Amino acid sequence: MSKTTPFIPYGAQWVDEDDISAVVEVLRSEYLTQGPKIAEFEKAIAGYVGAKYCVAFCNGTAALQCAVQVLDIPEGFEGITSANTFVASANCLAYNNLKPVFADIDARTFNVTADSICSRINVKTRVLLPVHFAGQACDMAAIAELAHDKGIPVIEDACHAIGSRYANGSSVGNCRYSKMTVFSFHPVKAITTGEGGAVTTNDVALYQRLSLLRSHGTTKDPKLLSQNPGPWFYEQQELGHNFRITDLQCALGLRQLYKLDAFKARRKEIVAAYNKAFSGLPNVQVPYEAEGLDSCFHLYVLQIDFEALGLDRASVIKSLAEEGIGTQVLYIPVHTQPWYKKTYGYKQGDCPVAEAYYQKTLSLPLYPKMSNEMVERVVKSAKRVLRV
Ligand SMILES: *Cc1c(COP(=O)(O)O)cnc(C)c1O
Repeated sequence: MSKTTPFIPYGAQWVDEDDISAVVEVLRSEYLTQGPKIAEFEKAIAGYVGAKYCVAFCNGTAALQCAVQVLDIPEGFEGITSANTFVASANCLAYNNLKPVFADIDARTFNVTADSICSRINVKTRVLLPVHFAGQACDMAAIAELAHDKGIPVIEDACHAIGSRYANGSSVGNCRYSKMTVFSFHPVKAITTGEGGAVTTNDVALYQRLSLLRSHGTTKDPKLLSQNPGPWFYEQQELGHNFRITDLQCALGLRQLYKLDAFKARRKEIVAAYNKAFSGLPNVQVPYEAEGLDSCFHLYVLQIDFEALGLDRASVIKSLAEEGIGTQVLYIPVHTQPWYKKTYGYKQGDCPVAEAYYQKTLSLPLYPKMSNEMVERVVKSAKRVLRV
């Protein structure tokens, strides 16, 4: 890579002067944390997705952990998530002393389905945690119907999917199909707060408990106190955490949310350009978008038959990096991680579709700040390195 050619990572934030000014303004204000920007950000997120309530957290993982915690599932029961996800989707169950169980994915959407989840349900199943992989919503109508039939609550891991829509055209996170939806605002996600996350819900009781758990399980709200001897008084009502987000982060998040639709439009343009460039090539498969879905693509995932092309993936990744192109392999099936094998006895072969997907997957750079020139560079380099 020449010194003048900037490295193109697989994902990146887009922070402008207006974002910076908003953060600086908070730095000059009275509250750096636990101030007014947090409620403002939560209201904006809830309004954007069409949910009644939102609680923002220090990251998406903490948000997932608390979403599971408020369901009060006794130790030893099970939750079902996708084999094709980041480890946090499953770890949140383990933090709550539940056994993470993995459903396999559909070979086209790479998402779990009502059928794949159903095959893992048993008498111990107490929560379903579908993941909207790469930004594309799962078939939530079918999953919600299954959950309703079985009487099991649903938490959506929408860390990839803020800005996306379900097949019925409504926004991911409105909780029409679930008790709670979880978002992440890590810099590679659609909008960022540096680190950050949120849970949306339409249930006021869950909302209040999520708020308690975020801050040590303590409250000063007169409506919630068992006694109220004076203005200094607070009560710890649960064993909570310090999972708070700061006003600095929420000021950034508010600016980012304002730009989400524009970011999404740009992501879709880049996806369309990639699809055009890579469609119909031998041994390369472009992502499938299920009909009617309107996805805020988080990842651009190619399925490449490296063996048929006579290439190995590690060398492809290395060659692309030498040309200044960052790629990622997302995801290593979670049940094949050493901790999951050791702790629960999972093994290779437990989720064959996710494992076959993993062998062929490669994520190309996708983020709204990419110029057309950068997209062209990625296409040219990828075609050259893949010899297609
Ligand atoms: C990013 C991500 C998380 C975790 O979010 P953090 O904000 O990084 O803690 C959880 N699940 C999925 C699917 C993610 O991509």
